[in-house]
Amino acid sequence: MIEYDLHNCITYRDEQYYYIFNPYTIGSIRIPNVGSVTESIKNFGVPTLYENGILIDGNLNGNSIAKFLLNKAKYDKKRLYLTDAITYKCNLNCVYCMQQNTFKGINRITPVEKVAIWERLFKMSNCELLNVCLFGGEPFYDYNYLFTLLNQAKSKNLNIQYSAVTNGTLINDDTISLINNYSINHIQITIDGPAYVHDKRRIGNKAKNTFEQIINNILKLLENTECEIVLNTVLDRNNKDTYIELVKFLNSKFSKFCFSSQARIIFNLGMECHPYNKSDYTNESIIKDLIEYHKIYLKYLQELLSLGNTIRFVMPNGLCIAKHRYEYLIAPDGCIYKCITGLGLKEFRLGYLNDIYKDALPLLLKESQFIEKEYAQCNNCKYQALCNGGCYYSAFINQASIDCRKQLFDAVLEEYVKLSCSVVKTKNGYYKGV
Ligand code: SF4
Ligand code: SF4
Repeated sequence: MIEYDLHNCITYRDEQYYYIFNPYTIGSIRIPNVGSVTESIKNFGVPTLYENGILIDGNLNGNSIAKFLLNKAKYDKKRLYLTDAITYKCNLNCVYCMQQNTFKGINRITPVEKVAIWERLFKMSNCELLNVCLFGGEPFYDYNYLFTLLNQAKSKNLNIQYSAVTNGTLINDDTISLINNYSINHIQITIDGPAYVHDKRRIGNKAKNTFEQIINNILKLLENTECEIVLNTVLDRNNKDTYIELVKFLNSKFSKFCFSSQARIIFNLGMECHPYNKSDYTNESIIKDLIEYHKIYLKYLQELLSLGNTIRFVMPNGLCIAKHRYEYLIAPDGCIYKCITGLGLKEFRLGYLNDIYKDALPLLLKESQFIEKEYAQCNNCKYQALCNGGCYYSAFINQASIDCRKQLFDAVLEEYVKLSCSVVKTKNGYYKGV
């Protein structure tokens, strides 16, 4: 329940604390409850709350602040982020795969052509650093291609930091060398539940018992590389009740790597999306009520923190690839996209390989339509910084004009705020419970 509306802040209360949240700056804090909110703020120290952007001058326009801060982040050119789908091929055929209905018959470009795109986009951006996330399909599916690609990029002396999103089944001595030689320092692997759950969802024609393979491979990565590993779980109706069983198993198996202040195992929760044209599996298993979905998600984040684990995200953030000026997806055929789940769909395509070599202005103008998309209803919305017009892909797949999250935030913001007040940021930018 909203207890008090103060200096553009939303305040909640329980017996011990006041939780103060500024939706425009996304600043939050919990302070000891010593009586009224005013007394409690005074007791805690008003200047600290102003300095951290939690309290803001009551005369300032919160929406202008939210827009300013969003723009600052949108146009921050420190890093260019490229997510590169090395191939659409994969050794698995997961039940909810986003790519199950698309991508037939494309021609993959060569590693030399691919690196030329990285180089061109990097030069065009004037960014200082290049982050490349190796994506797929399965990025380790075609070792020779990946090896040549990374070698080619090395020869260009681009200032690159690598990460990878993999199904975790193809880790062997060769991939371990690749990870070490090219400093792939961050790897995301999906595990969807204990073996009896996971092995029904993340399956392949030849790949059986993928859970066991992945667990063995995580151990190889922990022992033979220095990379951090994000263990991602896509929650839906069919696996939500076994999630904590999975976490407890992973905590006992990898205890040495789960609990220090710089844990190498970080937990992430994802929510299922429908692939293009939807699928029988996602139609049946997605938790359709978004409020219920977020409550489940929040409950498990809270449990992870209680178990002493490190988590990746806490508060929703109104920025994503589609809205960030220096972030792109590159398909195996060299096409450039502006949404991770919209990969391969013309609605999210900015252009073809050649469009960045001639005058790139038409491509940039198209990009502006994603970054600066405006909805009249968002202009005075207090959730703008958290939501920023919602997810374009969700609106597209649900054939809606907008993916508005107002009702959702009205229902679950209190839990998000309390969660964000009960964590500290780690050195690596993740979150642990206080
Ligand atoms: S539009 Fe939606 S799916 Fe696409 S990158 Fe943004 S948040 Fe992700
Ligand atoms: S989409 Fe809805 S909740 Fe999101 S910023 Fe716009 S009006 Fe607010």
